[in-house]
Amino acid sequence: MQQKQVNAVVITQAHEVSCQPHKVVWEADQVLVKVERGGICGSDIHYFLHGRAGMSVLKAPMVLGHELIGRVEQAPAESGLHAGQLVAINPSQPCRRCTFCLEGQPNLCRAMRFMGSAQFFPHVNGGFAEYVAVPPEQCVPYDPQADARVMAFAEPLAVCIHAIRQAGDLVGKKVLVTGAGPIGCLVIAAALAAGAAHITATDLSERCRALALEMGAHAVADPRDEALTAEWTENGGVFDASFEASGAPAAIAALVAYTRPGGTLIQLGMGAPEINYPVGSLLVKELALKGSFRFNGEFETAVRWLESARINPLPLLSAEMPMQEAAEALVLAADKGRAAKVQLTF
Ligand code: ZN
Repeated sequence: MQQKQVNAVVITQAHEVSCQPHKVVWEADQVLVKVERGGICGSDIHYFLHGRAGMSVLKAPMVLGHELIGRVEQAPAESGLHAGQLVAINPSQPCRRCTFCLEGQPNLCRAMRFMGSAQFFPHVNGGFAEYVAVPPEQCVPYDPQADARVMAFAEPLAVCIHAIRQAGDLVGKKVLVTGAGPIGCLVIAAALAAGAAHITATDLSERCRALALEMGAHAVADPRDEALTAEWTENGGVFDASFEASGAPAAIAALVAYTRPGGTLIQLGMGAPEINYPVGSLLVKELALKGSFRFNGEFETAVRWLESARINPLPLLSAEMPMQEAAEALVLAADKGRAAKVQLTF
C-alpha cells in the first residue's frame, strides 16, 4: 500500500467546503491519477446547499466531485495504461459480482460505490483533489489533442446518452425536454446526435432556454405559457418521447398530457419525492414511463463523442476556477441565473 498527502475539496456540512489536506491511499493494482479538471454536478451543489443529495445524507467529511479528467501518474504494468496518459475517470465502482453487474447493468448494482457520494457510510470520497486512486477499469484514455474543458463533460454526457437509450430509437422523432440545465441541454445534444427530428425544450429561465437553443433545440418555451402548452395536448399529446430533467412536480405531471398516446417518458430529474400523478392518463394512453439513472458502457461512448467533436458542450461552460476557490465555485454553480456548468482546475 502507498500513500500521498494531497489537497482536496472537502465538505464537512452544508455550506462548509474548504480546500484541505487529505491522504490518498492506493494498492499496487490501482492507478494513481493527477486530477487536472472536474465539473461541478447538481449533486455536489445539493450537498453544498442542503448537506444531502436525494436520499444520500452527509454524515461525515467527504471529498466532493465525480466529473473528472486527469493524467496517469502511476499505473500497474498489466493495466495497459502508462504514466503521462490523459484519461477520463468513470466514477462508478460497481461490485462486478451481483446479478445486475453480471447482466451488464452495473448502474443498478445495490453495492455501487459512486465517487463523491454519501449514499453509504463510510462515504465514498470523490475526486476534487490533486490526486485520486482508482482501479484501471475506471480510466478511459482519450486523444491528447482533445480540449480538456470538453472532455470534463464525459460523465454528465454519459448520463444523457444512457437516457436517450432508455427511450429507444429516436430517429425522426419529436422530442420534448423539460428543464434546460446542463443535463437537459446535453440530452438535447445527444437526442439530436441520435437522429431526433425536432426537439422542444422548456425552462423557467430565459438564460437556460437560450442555452437549449445553442445546444441544438429547435424550439423553446416557458412552461408557464399556457397558450403554447395547450397546443401540446392536441390529439392526446404531440411528442413521441419526453425527457424530464427538471425534477419539478408540475413538469413531471404535465409530460403525461404532452406526450402522444403510445409514447415514452424518461424521468431523469431528481427531487419531488411525492407528486400528484395523472395515473389514469398514463394508462389509457399506454405511455411507457422509465427512470434513467447514471450510465453503463455509455461512459466510453461519451468520451468518444466528445473527443471526436460529435457534440460540443462548451456553450454550457460558464466558468473555470482553481480548487482553492471551490466554495465560491459552488455558490456560482448553484445560481441558475448566472451559471450552467462550472469547472474546477487542480
Ligand atoms: Zn453489482
